[in-house]
Amino acid sequence: MHTFVHESPPTRVVFEPGGRRHAAREVGLLGGRRALVLSTPGRRRQAEELAEQLGPLAAGTFTGAAPHTPVNVTEQALAVARKLSADCLVSIGGGSTTGLGKAIAYRTGLDQIVLPTTYAGSEVTPVLGETVDGTKTTLRSPEVLPETVIYDVDLTLSLPVGITVTSALNSLAHAVEALWAEDPDPVTLLMAREAVTTIVSALPGVVSDPADRAARGSALYGAWLAGTCLATAGMALHHKLCHVLGGSFGLPHAATHAVILPYVIAYNAPWAPRATAVIEQALGAPAAAAVRAFAENAGAPTALRDLGMPESGIAKAADACTRGPYANPRPVRRDTLEALLRAAWTGQAPAADGYGAHPRQAPPHDPL
Ligand code: NAD
Repeated sequence: MHTFVHESPPTRVVFEPGGRRHAAREVGLLGGRRALVLSTPGRRRQAEELAEQLGPLAAGTFTGAAPHTPVNVTEQALAVARKLSADCLVSIGGGSTTGLGKAIAYRTGLDQIVLPTTYAGSEVTPVLGETVDGTKTTLRSPEVLPETVIYDVDLTLSLPVGITVTSALNSLAHAVEALWAEDPDPVTLLMAREAVTTIVSALPGVVSDPADRAARGSALYGAWLAGTCLATAGMALHHKLCHVLGGSFGLPHAATHAVILPYVIAYNAPWAPRATAVIEQALGAPAAAAVRAFAENAGAPTALRDLGMPESGIAKAADACTRGPYANPRPVRRDTLEALLRAAWTGQAPAADGYGAHPRQAPPHDPL
């Protein structure tokens, strides 16, 4: 018999090709009259078009969002929001723009409407990572969860193939970590399974034809599911590693996820039969090698050194990831973690023996 606690995030989700045309309606439903539209510098044109479409409901734009949500950028955006008397935020972009909207909402309580343009999934999580002087800290609060998300596949068509692939693998990682989470609820597991299957079947179609709206739509649907899993199931070794690597060495977020995922699957697989079975059903066995081949075939990066990580960082990252307890199906040992990181740094194939793992005996919380 099931015993669980499940919380459905209260976010309103509008999933529709061309759905950005509903932005004014959604601002109105939240009682907004002066929306500040946010984007990165690269998405400025989309932000300006959206502001134009919002007409009198748009107070202005701020297009300086940056990766890892630097607090000095948030302060600049807050000054603009105050000057314009903004009463809600409309974020159009990937996780960097969503992060800025969350950071402003955390400090002001303003409502947020997000139009995602990548597969990061941040728009449905109550998690915010912020950077001060190169140090990234993460907080979890219902205050940062956006009120409304509009998924419009057309906004993703311009996403370059390289970022498309790494972003989709970032969302795959959210779902995989949900599958091996401690005490996951059955609804989250359903979503995680669906997310893995959907992302894995959609991505090759997007790579072969980036203008394929149906394939892009599936990838976006999978990204929503996976982001929701991240919100409800939490994070384990994979996200801890990527967080440390991104924060310590300034590595690109989604690309780091893409490199690390097969190695963490190799590490955890013997202790996580449910996740392994789902991955193997979607991609073939053994799971780590199958995910690595899938990523490589899609053109993803495979080595941390190619992302700019110094070799001297391996020991530093292994230290940081063994400090402080966090949930992971397999206990994290300093020596095995260093072996994993060294392999990921050079890009050699993930270890077939699970980095010396012994299969866990009768896993108590991992029924198939
Ligand atoms: P991003 O938002 O930094 O976007 C990457 C680049 O792609 C940017 O230059 C952006 O302008 C460009 N871009 C975005 N959409 C585009 C499109 N449709 N067409 C063309 N170019 C486009 O990258 P990301 O991977 O989406 O987000 C990474 C950030 O999100 C990191 O800071 C990470 O920590 C955060 N994140 C947070 C969570 C969470 O739950 N808090 C989850 C995932 C990611």
